[in-house]
Order: sequence, then C-alpha cells, then structure tokens
Amino acid sequence: MIEFLNIKQITQRNKQELMQAFEAVLDSGWFIMGNALRTFEQEFAGYCGTQSCIGVANGLDALILILEAYKETGFMKPGDEVIVPSNTYIASILAVSKAGLTPVLCEPDIHTYLLDPALIEKKISKKTKAILPVHLYGQVCDMDPIVALAKKYNLKIIEDCAQSQGAMYHGKRCGNLGDAAGFSFYPGKNLGALGDAGAVTTHDETLAEIIKAWRNYGSHKKYENLYLGVNSRLDELQAALLSVKLKSLDADNQKRREIAQYYINNINHPGIVLPASKERDVLNDHSHVWHVFVVRTEKRDSFQQYLLENGVQTVIHYPIPPHHQKAYTSLHSQQFPISEKIHSQVISLPISPVMQANEYEKVCQVVNLFSS
Ligand SMILES: *Cc1c(COP(=O)(O)O)cnc(C)c1O
Repeated sequence: MIEFLNIKQITQRNKQELMQAFEAVLDSGWFIMGNALRTFEQEFAGYCGTQSCIGVANGLDALILILEAYKETGFMKPGDEVIVPSNTYIASILAVSKAGLTPVLCEPDIHTYLLDPALIEKKISKKTKAILPVHLYGQVCDMDPIVALAKKYNLKIIEDCAQSQGAMYHGKRCGNLGDAAGFSFYPGKNLGALGDAGAVTTHDETLAEIIKAWRNYGSHKKYENLYLGVNSRLDELQAALLSVKLKSLDADNQKRREIAQYYINNINHPGIVLPASKERDVLNDHSHVWHVFVVRTEKRDSFQQYLLENGVQTVIHYPIPPHHQKAYTSLHSQQFPISEKIHSQVISLPISPVMQANEYEKVCQVVNLFSS
C-alpha cells in the first residue's frame, strides 16, 4: 500500500537529532515557557521575516488569539464580521465564531480553490473588520488585490498559514503578508510537531504583547493579569522538536514540488482535473508548498475505491462543506455552489517528503488506468 502520508517515516529521518533535543529539554528540568520556546520563536520569526512569533498550543488557538487581541485593542467588538473562504478547513471558521465574531463565508475560485478576490468586495459590510485568507492546500492566495481591498475598507488581514509553512509570494514568506498570521504545527502539516503546536506571526508589536499575555492566563508578569486570557502555551519539548524540524522544511517542500511536478507531467486522464498550475514550472514556483495534491473528478467515490483496491491510499479534503455541518445550522440556509462542487469532487493523492520515485510513478500509472 502506498500510504497517503507516512508520518512515522518522516520523523524517523531525524530520530537522532530529535532524541538529542528531547534529552536536552529533559535534562534542563524546565518544561514550560523557557529557552527552547524563545529559541524557536526567534527562529520562526526569522524564517518568516516577521518582527514577532508567539508560540501557542495549536493552530485553532493561534487564530482565536489574534482575534481576541484585536478585540483587546478595541479594533474589533463582538458581532463584527470576518470574511473567510467557504471551502476552508472548519478551524478557520470556528476561530471566528469562538472569538465572538461572525464568519462571513466567501466563495473560492474553482481553479485554485483559494479565496476569489473578485467576490470579496460584495461581502464587505459596515461590520466587516478583517479578511482571513487561507493558503489552502499549501498555495498562497493572490494577496495583492486582497491587500488593496483591506486598505480601501480599513480591514485587517489575518492569514491562515496552517497548510502553507514556507510558501512565498513576491519573495516574502506567508505569515508576513498581512497584519497577523496563524500557523498550525499539527503532525501532518508540512512543518509538524510530535503533538499539538501552533504559532502567531506578526509585525504588530502591540498585538504581539497582548497575545503573549493572552496565551498565559492574560499575564504579562508572574501573578499579574491584564486580560481574561487562556492557557494556550507551546511547551518546551514541542518547541525544541520544531527547531530540529524547521531545518529541513525548505528541502521537504522542494521534495513535495518534485512529486507535484511529476504528477502534473504524467497524470493524463480526461476525467481527472489537475491543480491549476498545469502549465507552470512547479519546481521553481515557491508560492506552493503542496501540503496536499488535490485533483477533482465527478466519479470521486469510485475513483477512491479503485485507487484503494490498487494499493493507493487517498484522503478527501474535505467531504462536507462548512455551511452544511451540523455545528453550523446558522449557515444551512446559505448557498455556496462552487464550494459544494469542490467538496463533492476533490480527492488528494499521496505526497510527502519521504515518497520514493517508484511510489509516485505507480500512483500515476494507476490513476491513468482508471476506467471512468
Ligand atoms: C490544521 C488547520 C488548522 C488548525 O490547526 P490545529 O493545530 O489542528 O488546531 C486551521 N486551519 C487550517 C486551514 C488547517 O488546515
């Protein structure tokens, strides 16, 4: 079986170094808010090119804390609106709801699956305070028109970089393309911890200071509390392991590009829609880090069954659109036909930095022989 993503193999590559990092934390006897966290925060801010990085417990919290911090500054208040893509992973939308704000869903482009700048403006109301572009599947959104809209209407841009660690736009890393960004380091992401982990990046020092306190009971100073904060810290162990894994992020993303390039060059099937980048030079395009390789087909379910029977494991990102989720009855009456089409047709083929040539070659052969 060609596994969709072999996380065991991915982490085994750095076993020695990860064990050393583990031992250093173990021997330090200091497990929360120490040197390993400070070091990783500095390294990741440096990597993204931002002033600050604040380690937090997970990607969902990263987004929630950004929004809570904007409420603390007075820029946002309960009931204000945030524009989010209608086809994102549920966490982007949940973050808005959990912060007491209202998610306003906006359709993506059917070719890139990313927020369509042309559709955003119609969603802007007097209550809109932010746009939350999600660099879904590892591909950076077209930020120039989004930044222009944000300027025009005085909105914040909050990037969801959970799937796009390392991706670039006009020479800048994601996480550095808006006002603040949330990252997840869930084990399956391109930069994954060995448990839950996340981070916020920003240039806004006021915001950074609020989030630093918020993640630690709203405390900036021991036993003094400025805000009604939460416990959402990134522990020393995960921070130390992330510092090890950050070193191979660029090489891992390049390996993903090689596989994506191979798929794009070699998958040739009239019933399978490849990612929109068909004509371009994938290897040299750093705006995509191929968190997942998503294709589209009207025969999605039989295609998935066929692949499984032929030794290829796949995953669907995602089968149910957020506005049809039981948790979001408030959105059930709305219609998002592009999202609905995407959710009924997408399927992700195996891609990872540990995949071997014989494996991705076999994936192409099997895909091309699908009799639709
Ligand atoms: C994974 C993910 C998140 C949430 O990250 P967690 O660390 O699992 O909380 C948020 N947004 C997107 C787009 C994601 O893929």
